[in-house]
Amino acid sequence: MPWDLLIRGGEVVAPNGVPRLDIAIEDGSIVELAPDLTGQSRGAIDASGLHVFPGLIDPHVHFNEPGRTDWEGFETGSAALAAGGGTCFFDMPLNSSPPVLDGATFDAKCAAAERNSLTDFALWGGLTRDNLDKLEELAARGVVGFKAFMSDSGISDFPVADDYTLYKGMRLAAKLGLVVAVHAENDSVTSGLAAEAAKQGRSGIRDYLASRPAFAECEAIGRAALLAHATQCNLHVVHVSTVNGARTAKFGLDDARWGLGDDEPDYTITCETCPHYLLLSDKDVESLGANAKCAPPLRSSHEAELLTRALFRDDEIDFLASDHSPSPASMKQGNDVFRIWGGIAGVQSTLSSALTLHPRLPIQKVGDLTSSGAAARFHLPNKGKISVGYDADLAFVDLAATYTLTRDMLLDRHKLSPYVGRTFRGLVRRTIVRGHTVFQDGRITAGNFRGRLIKPTPRIATERKPTDA
Ligand code: ZN
Repeated sequence: MPWDLLIRGGEVVAPNGVPRLDIAIEDGSIVELAPDLTGQSRGAIDASGLHVFPGLIDPHVHFNEPGRTDWEGFETGSAALAAGGGTCFFDMPLNSSPPVLDGATFDAKCAAAERNSLTDFALWGGLTRDNLDKLEELAARGVVGFKAFMSDSGISDFPVADDYTLYKGMRLAAKLGLVVAVHAENDSVTSGLAAEAAKQGRSGIRDYLASRPAFAECEAIGRAALLAHATQCNLHVVHVSTVNGARTAKFGLDDARWGLGDDEPDYTITCETCPHYLLLSDKDVESLGANAKCAPPLRSSHEAELLTRALFRDDEIDFLASDHSPSPASMKQGNDVFRIWGGIAGVQSTLSSALTLHPRLPIQKVGDLTSSGAAARFHLPNKGKISVGYDADLAFVDLAATYTLTRDMLLDRHKLSPYVGRTFRGLVRRTIVRGHTVFQDGRITAGNFRGRLIKPTPRIATERKPTDA
């Protein structure tokens, strides 16, 4: 029987090296991987001169469908993802309307994504004080984990999770074998400083930056880590903006663990950072304005360099995510920076951003940070690796090419990326999702192909025992 597709001669970014290999694909899966494969195939692609990466997995996007499709939507969002070598995204439970807080809202979002997404996808469920009794039905439907905000989310139908809510939610999540992800900033500090600025009539960019200090992030991460310890729940910290934040997530709790006198921990803590915390700084917020406003905010260029160096070390930052969070241009205007809608629209540029750090960043580490790391953390079956039995999710990259990003290259709805005008190394030539070419040489080629829901394999902790259950 001939294979569906044979990819010849690419430099394959594999777990144990970057060998030149042929890849045979059947029914969307990789069935053979070896140099100079001999065999019949119905289709063939010459990948010589290109690096073949595992398709980028973006574990943190806001595509805002249903309900706010005018902000993005699955079709344009996934097209931009694919143009950046992406084959799977995890959509956050907000800012769709309604947010994903129970089974019915999950079903509505899943149906919309099945209709419109050009890549595979997973869905986050929300964890708020109002939906603790819905976590189980969300888990049953296949959420990839639960997202909670430790500070104001900016959206009234997605309330902040206070410590009690987080504690209760993490105990439940541990029982369900799922990860809890937190936006970690101390709400009392950030909203207090914002109120103070408002009272004094300070509403500029520097005032906004000063209202979200780095220690407020670090403190919240430490608190979430303690709760993870108390509940033995797997914790993931999203969009860490400082190296101290990453270290607090990964190492800062050794003493606390000791003090709590527990045995071997039965949970892990991971964290992600975003390209904008590596490539941009507070100075860019001043020059780019609202397109570079986010929370936590961009830090100093010194901090960006420290965070970049942390990528080179093992175990400090687990993977990259875009936190693509777009809105119409009309919401990005005004004199009061506190009121302007925040969020950076960078979904197309994560792989390019990581490749621009090469050769400081080894090529396999790029594959880990943009694909394998997230797939492993969230137990996505057959994703994140170029290996026999895995889904044929591939990004073909011309590493020798450099390009300057222009607005007309962007495929997301509003094209407000802060990276326009920046020169990147490594041009994505083609993106393949389960054997289907969905993007090639600047154009979407998906036709009728649509992505599907990817459910994690929950790690049910039968022997897991909360410290004070
Ligand atoms: Zn986000």
